[in-house]
Amino acid sequence: MQPRDLSSHVAYEAGRGVEEVARELGLDPGSLVKLASNENPLGPSPAAVEAIREHADRIHSYPKASHADLTAELADRWGLSTSQVWLAAGGDGALDYLARATLEPGDRVLVPEPGFAYYGMSARYHHGGVATYPVSKAEGFEQTAEKVLADYDGDRIVYLTSPHNPTGSEIDLAEVEELAERTDEETLIVVDEAYGEFSDGPSAVDLVDGRDDVAVLRTFSKAYGLAGVRLGYALVPEAWADAYARVNTPFAASEIACRAGLAALGDAEHVERSVAVARDSRQFMYERLDARTWESAGNFVLAEVGDASGVAEQLQERGVIVRDCTSFGLPECIRITCGTDEETRKAVTECNELLRETV
Ligand SMILES: *Cc1c(COP(=O)(O)O)cnc(C)c1O
Repeated sequence: MQPRDLSSHVAYEAGRGVEEVARELGLDPGSLVKLASNENPLGPSPAAVEAIREHADRIHSYPKASHADLTAELADRWGLSTSQVWLAAGGDGALDYLARATLEPGDRVLVPEPGFAYYGMSARYHHGGVATYPVSKAEGFEQTAEKVLADYDGDRIVYLTSPHNPTGSEIDLAEVEELAERTDEETLIVVDEAYGEFSDGPSAVDLVDGRDDVAVLRTFSKAYGLAGVRLGYALVPEAWADAYARVNTPFAASEIACRAGLAALGDAEHVERSVAVARDSRQFMYERLDARTWESAGNFVLAEVGDASGVAEQLQERGVIVRDCTSFGLPECIRITCGTDEETRKAVTECNELLRETV
């Protein structure tokens, strides 16, 4: 007996971990600066850590109250009803629920190229096909309705990422609305706002209220610093909100995740500080990195360095782990996550030295 034909499925390539790299290079993990996975350099909110400790002795129970409380808190914050908040194990889990709720076998989805790999992976798990639209370097990674529509062919889901990973570009709300207007009635526009907190622009949640074809994805993994607990959610149209009960994995978010999430939501200062650190780090990279960069609305900066794989590998030997964007289809670019002042300086210094040597 064998699994089904998975030949069109590709494994997710995560940014490399500190332990993994330290072991491979025989280095002390403490000496490595990891700027490869867009994690929060400040760590989690202390309030979330405390909440996890406080509830540790209750993890023998299924998360009922905490799941309901977090859903209610998020609904309140976004001005939606509780049935429109779909909690999940990470934003990735929420992407799965959206695919489960919408895709019939053979339905096609449209994803950005370069873009976040999990959109296509999730669609394929749900027996969907995948087509791409370019977010093109030649056009400064600009995102517009027109550019997406050029490749749209009645796809069931269109994924937008704003701020976009790995380029940092955004799409205006008016463009999202235009896209929703000009696509079929049965097309869902998913606006992935995993980096929404770092952007000054408005959330597309404004469009969820009043339309039945736009959903928004948010996560606690980035600005909230809770990547390790796996907590995210989708905000979905009122009209099909009851689908959640039919597609979710029971108790989709864990007790620990829900408690941490509730506490993190209450710690506005931590998020504000995280956003400020990212803003400073971005600015430092634009100004000091001796490589072409693009303005980013996320907690990372894309930089053109020539041979990205080679540069990423050599940077690693110098103690800085960045994301080689070859697997994103940008073999000349690396993505550097915004770090603390010290981490950012080290990354920029090492990168500049390396680029000077290789020229
Ligand atoms: C990080 C990320 C997500 C969600 O990650 P989770 O850890 O599963 O919440 C979603 N989309 C993009 C573009 C991301 O970079």
